[in-house]
Amino acid sequence: MAGSCSGNCSSCSQKCGDEEKKLQATLGKIKKKIVVMSGKGGVGKSTVAVNLASALALAGFKVGLLDVDIHGPSVPQMLNLQNTGVMMDGDLILPQEIGSLKVVSLGFMIDDPDGAIIWRGPMKIGVIKQFLSEVAWGELDYLVIDSPPGTGDEPLTVCQLLNDAEAVIVTTPQQVAANDVAKSLNFCKQINMKVLGLVENMSGFVCPHCNEVVEIFPGNAGEELAEKFGVELLAKIPLDPAVAHGGDAGTPFIQRFAKTVPGRIFNDMVEKLFGVSDGLSTF
Ligand code: ADP
Repeated sequence: MAGSCSGNCSSCSQKCGDEEKKLQATLGKIKKKIVVMSGKGGVGKSTVAVNLASALALAGFKVGLLDVDIHGPSVPQMLNLQNTGVMMDGDLILPQEIGSLKVVSLGFMIDDPDGAIIWRGPMKIGVIKQFLSEVAWGELDYLVIDSPPGTGDEPLTVCQLLNDAEAVIVTTPQQVAANDVAKSLNFCKQINMKVLGLVENMSGFVCPHCNEVVEIFPGNAGEELAEKFGVELLAKIPLDPAVAHGGDAGTPFIQRFAKTVPGRIFNDMVEKLFGVSDGLSTF
């Protein structure tokens, strides 16, 4: 067919070469990339990504937070950032900044927050590629990526383009989550991605009256998956209204509710993983 191309012609090779150069120029200035993943939606993946990035920024690191959860970008709400449209510096997307935390989210670009994003696969992949290669992060100590959920094309594109990223995987305690999160762990194994560990979120509820832990969800997915896949269970974070309030109000709970049980557990995890103490300041 006239005009068709198998992708091997010189103009396609040139385009691929240019894309690769852009990707390297952007990612080459980032010391460590951490992808927060989950096989299941609604388990607290964005909460973990936002609080991890915030904890590192509050500890004094230069941190980027990239929200590529293209169907449910929650990061703007969780950090009280407004939809400003796409701000550009030349051909690079400019992140919004909160202290030493730089943030890019597809949510900045959506006019109607209630509108569904209906994109076909190639378009989604194109946006993910652009978000990974065309952002003016500058030099970063850490880039935390809130990945799309599942183990399909979208997270695969993220992980393949990042190449040397490490994963933090989020589950909840019950078996239905474990089944899906096992797929994420197998996914990491297949693409040779290092797993820093698992976070079991919504792990019981501490009664504010008697301090007794009530198991809301049955199961022990964090421990079972950690043992089965030989990865570390980094933290078990209980359900706590402070976490949800922090998310809705746009203030990370590790900052606003640092003294709550989830706040302390989360900060201990960050200290264990990255050797930073929770001498937290504010943004
Ligand atoms: P995901 O990114 O996996 O879809 P989110 O991080 O958006 O999940 O979390 C879903 C909802 O649950 C949010 O409203 C969030 O504030 C809330 N949430 C997450 N973890 C907890 C927790 N430990 N306690 C209370 N609410 C939580």
